[in-house]
Amino acid sequence: MSTPETGAQTAPIRMRVQGMDCAKDVAEIERAARSAGVSAEDVKVSAATHIITLRIAENYLPKVRLALESTGYGFERIEGDDVSADPGYKDPSYRWALWIVVVLNLGYGVVEMAGGFLSGSQALKADALDFLGDGAITFLGLLAIGWSLTWRARSAMIQGLFLGLLGLGVVASTLWRVLNQATPEAGLMSAFAMGALIVNILAVLPLLKHRKGDANMRAVWLFSRNDAIGNFAVVVAAGLVAWFGSAWPDLIVAFGIAALFLHSSWTIIRDARADLRE
Ligand SMILES: [Zn+2]
Repeated sequence: MSTPETGAQTAPIRMRVQGMDCAKDVAEIERAARSAGVSAEDVKVSAATHIITLRIAENYLPKVRLALESTGYGFERIEGDDVSADPGYKDPSYRWALWIVVVLNLGYGVVEMAGGFLSGSQALKADALDFLGDGAITFLGLLAIGWSLTWRARSAMIQGLFLGLLGLGVVASTLWRVLNQATPEAGLMSAFAMGALIVNILAVLPLLKHRKGDANMRAVWLFSRNDAIGNFAVVVAAGLVAWFGSAWPDLIVAFGIAALFLHSSWTIIRDARADLRE
């Protein structure tokens, strides 16, 4: 059901979102739009293209925009139907910065996954998925420059399904750990989690100068926070594991991070399905 102010009959309003780095940002931005009264089916944020699509009346946009901008991301109106690749991709130094982000995310994703097995921590494995997912999305964005919308949607679908399977794998192995508990090695666990925090902050730096608006420390926090909160939760879990000598803090954080990751994978599949239908 549409809210009275919104109108599915008008042409959709599209904006490019600046500052999105993480698939979890999708949920945050959609929540902001809903807080301004937009119904769930009238807002869609794509993790792959960083485009928000609103089906609302034009005169309602200022109110929604205010709510969106309170999240800290930048919103730039796209005129017409040009929803192809980000025009920023034409800039070689921007593409170079994105490759650095891909290498940092995929690289640390592998390192943190290994850390999860070494220390026996499920939370580290779940957190590693987020790196792999964010790296894969940026990687696909770079590969798909110039691809048709259909091919981009197909590859996004495969990516969403693959990430979803990885997420289910971590959930299943965490369930197994609930039944066969072993206390993780807390020191090793917190070292890998602090490494994750550092890499997430480093991954924002190459993109900063390509962003309009505030390129400062506040922006670094703003654009890495959704990942940093996860990393920080693993650090706290490691402390609690050491304190109580119990596996539970690790398992609970693992479920939380994996659930968010599965939700992100679902939004990628949802977008790809919608794009394939169009
Ligand atoms: Zn992320």
